[in-house]
Amino acid sequence: MQTLVADHPLVAHKLTALRDIRTETPTFRRLADELVTLLAYEATRHVRVEPATVTTPVGQAEGVKLAKPVPLIVPVLRAGVGMLDGMTRLLPNADVGFVGMARDEETLLPTTYAARLPDDLGGREVFVLDPMLATGGTLVAAIELLSVRGAGEITAVCLLASPEGITRLEQAFPADGPVAVRVVTAAVDTELNSQGYIVPGLGDAGDRLFGKI
Ligand code: URA
Repeated sequence: MQTLVADHPLVAHKLTALRDIRTETPTFRRLADELVTLLAYEATRHVRVEPATVTTPVGQAEGVKLAKPVPLIVPVLRAGVGMLDGMTRLLPNADVGFVGMARDEETLLPTTYAARLPDDLGGREVFVLDPMLATGGTLVAAIELLSVRGAGEITAVCLLASPEGITRLEQAFPADGPVAVRVVTAAVDTELNSQGYIVPGLGDAGDRLFGKI
């Protein structure tokens, strides 16, 4: 498992504003969207392309286009939906699947309540969107769901991560395992608190994006 912390002043600037308790939902959504687009740029650094030739007004240019099959983007409901536009802005041709995971607030264990995914993910690059890599339970469960369908390359895009969550993912998906997992995030914070929140974090990402319901 590889972890990439995006080291860019705009990433740090937007993350700081997201963390701020005074940032209200409309601004939080916009900042999250912008931050995801910056993270998507890093997350797609190795996306597969194939040669393509185009005719310009003055000649022929050799370039590239995204290879087939197109990547699959999978937001984890609910908070991951707040990251979808930011990701599809850079990958407008990607397919989109959905996974619904809820965390039991007492056991902190994830349960799957929805999965809308292609049956065969062989040869597909998959980008999972989950804003908070906290205990890692949700992301491990989501990645397992994708790997049993044949996904071999999975990149998780997270606004924030905890050291505990990263360790959990490293243990679940070792470098010599069948699935290559990468995490791209804006920062790795200090720790988790006893409720499983990232500290200092930004609070409940779903509530801040979509309100407390
Ligand atoms: N989920 C959140 O939304 N925030 C955290 O800090 C941890 C999990």
